[in-house]
Amino acid sequence: MTQPQTQSQTQSPAQNNRPAAKSRDKRTDLVGLSRNELGELLKDMGEPAFRTKQLWHWIYHRGETDFAKMTTIAKSMRETLSEQCVIRRPEISLEQTSRDKARKWLFAFPDGNEAETVFIPEDDRGAVCISCQVGCSLTCTFCHTGTMGLVRNLSAGEIVGQFMAARDSYGEWPSPSGTRLLSNIVMMGMGEPLINFDNVSKALKIIMDGEGIAISKRRITLSTSGLVPMMDRCGSELGVNLAVSLHAVTDQLRDVLVPINKKYPLKELLAACRRYPSANNARRITFEYVMLRGINDSPADARELLRMVKGIPVKFNLIPFNPWPGAPYQCSHADDIKRFSEILNDGGFSAPIRVPRGRDILAACGQLKSASTRDLDRLRAESQQRKAARETQHASTS
Ligand code: SF4
Repeated sequence: MTQPQTQSQTQSPAQNNRPAAKSRDKRTDLVGLSRNELGELLKDMGEPAFRTKQLWHWIYHRGETDFAKMTTIAKSMRETLSEQCVIRRPEISLEQTSRDKARKWLFAFPDGNEAETVFIPEDDRGAVCISCQVGCSLTCTFCHTGTMGLVRNLSAGEIVGQFMAARDSYGEWPSPSGTRLLSNIVMMGMGEPLINFDNVSKALKIIMDGEGIAISKRRITLSTSGLVPMMDRCGSELGVNLAVSLHAVTDQLRDVLVPINKKYPLKELLAACRRYPSANNARRITFEYVMLRGINDSPADARELLRMVKGIPVKFNLIPFNPWPGAPYQCSHADDIKRFSEILNDGGFSAPIRVPRGRDILAACGQLKSASTRDLDRLRAESQQRKAARETQHASTS
């Protein structure tokens, strides 16, 4: 679920004059292979089965990208790996850290397409918001990414790679056994995860693997606009926390705000939430509700919401609308949002109002990808200058 705000610009690298990332390297990227696939690849190289575990440990527990440094692996195998394989990260096209410490990356993939990742830190932990598609095929009318159309799905490796690159940025390797800074994952970036479910599922299984990155399913939240059949699959295959972009209490309105509702109307959506396997009072489903002035923000809407969710373990997340040029909606008045939240609270539900983070770096998902080319060029130039300054400083002190 994304809420970008600047001009829509879904462009190919050629169109937008951005340099396409180099894609000449034909070696196999190991990031994104399942354990079985990695095992098969090593078997084809004539390596015994136990090497899979060793290599997995280096890639996902240690975060190592250089085969030469994998000292527990025989030298001859390391050489073969270097010739035939690579452990890739997406290229950082742009990195920014906001005054409130949110950090955002625009990552470029080998074909030149780009997607965004954001880290939102709390005191001693934080969530990484990951994209699963470039653009989005759904056309939620409050969401700027929805105006872009779908460019393509991201592969499992590109999804895992976003998180690994974020960990690189904070030097959080090897995977800590205790407290972690990058402790949670939210699949709430660009795109609808349940449309790209095979790749998302593969990526999350890699991330959850206890001998690698090892993030528990309890610390992963997948946000969907409501693809009902895939919600069942998500619950049974992954068991991660679920967030649902709800935004309306009638089918009439939700058909407009979240058009997938025409296919899977509220009754079916709520039934899918009721049967979602891992939902209970300790792991509530989050209902995201964007606050649109005069559209869905009345006290009557809040009371209807309470009626609708009876029997479902939910909590709410009220999102003040972040308008973009040409957006057909305005953000609700602060008093109305507060009143809405109080009604839900009085009904016994948690309903915090989301505090925007990283406003100075366009940190709401989709904002960078949809920023105007001129803005992006400026931001890239600033980012490059900071990087060069860091490198000069590092060179002079080492
Ligand atoms: S499903 Fe797509 S269009 Fe709808 S809110 Fe999410 S990114 Fe935007």
